[in-house]
Amino acid sequence: MVVGGSPALVSQLVGHTNTVNKVILVPNDSALISVSDDRTLRVWIRRSSGDYWPSICQTLEWCVSSLALENFHLFVGLESGSINHYKITEDLNRITLLRIYSSHQMRVSDLIYDGNRDWLLSVGKDKTFHWYTGDTGRRLGSYVAGAWCLCLAFDRISNFAFIGDYSGGIHMVRLEEGEEFKFVTTLKGHAGSIRSLIWDEEEQILLSCSADKSVFIWEIGEGKGNAIQLNCHRERVNDIAYCAPSRLLFSFGIDKKMIVWNLRTERKPFALWQESNECQECSLPFFWNVQRIWQEKNVNFKRQHHCRRCGRAVCGECSPHQSILPWYGFEYPVRVCKPCYQDIPEDELRSSTQTHNILIEPSCVDFDYSKKLMAVGASDNVIRLYDVAACL
Ligand SMILES: [Zn+2]
Ligand SMILES: [Zn+2]
Repeated sequence: MVVGGSPALVSQLVGHTNTVNKVILVPNDSALISVSDDRTLRVWIRRSSGDYWPSICQTLEWCVSSLALENFHLFVGLESGSINHYKITEDLNRITLLRIYSSHQMRVSDLIYDGNRDWLLSVGKDKTFHWYTGDTGRRLGSYVAGAWCLCLAFDRISNFAFIGDYSGGIHMVRLEEGEEFKFVTTLKGHAGSIRSLIWDEEEQILLSCSADKSVFIWEIGEGKGNAIQLNCHRERVNDIAYCAPSRLLFSFGIDKKMIVWNLRTERKPFALWQESNECQECSLPFFWNVQRIWQEKNVNFKRQHHCRRCGRAVCGECSPHQSILPWYGFEYPVRVCKPCYQDIPEDELRSSTQTHNILIEPSCVDFDYSKKLMAVGASDNVIRLYDVAACL
């Protein structure tokens, strides 16, 4: 079932003079907080006119690269590698600096604060992940990845942290209170840097988006790491947002599209590409199979392609058709072999995905279910608020 309408633009917040790196809609309030490469931290409150105006505009010494908020504790990551911990008053009019963590050697890419346990998790371009306790500011553990660490997700029930890196790997580590944490595994599948991660503790799934233009659903719990690939964007996917109650995933690409994926829809894991020296349909050898080509005096050099539905290695003549394959996460036409093309059931072709042209290049997003609001920071440094109730 394809639901709905378009997102409705309700407000534009103008003020930042460089890339907006993170925006957070303040829970239970008509306010949001943003940080930017223009070195400012801004708190915006909705006034009686309906417009948002800053109540705080704090200029820092460095570009402000990341942000976390919980229970009026505000953590701000900087280009220099340090993290400032502020307490913000309940009226959102004043902030007080409590502590500075000298945590990373380079830009702090992402932060998570767990207020219940007073844990601060951070990743940086110095390729490290750090885990701190907020009461003393002491470091509880660290992990070094092989590439820049760009984003984070955390499962507060089982204490798994997920670290997305520049090479496309997602490192999974387990935080054990009172001991060094354990490295679990690296999830491999993306072919480009990981831009954002979201953990859904109810469904035990991890959502990731990447510069490789795709979004992945990782079924971590029962699915044992099964990955479902979602392909619709034609450019880098910069950020994602998730509406858990209706199980809708919003992805934002620099192709200026907001795509809404219904995760209740049945989908199949991506078919693994098979390797073969000959076409698995007509049995003619591929061009590198020199020995057979010589034996058979066959000068018809065959290139290898793959059917996106069954994964078989086939030649061009045996895969002349293209089709969308929504069940396999392809919302645009891709190569399929002849037998698959003739057999695709009607159900597999039905798409539940909504595409909206938002006409801006998003840099970061945040979603608030209670307000049905989506905040989108864009490459023009403006933050836009959309009412997305019609999409849900
Ligand atoms: Zn063939
Ligand atoms: Zn096929």
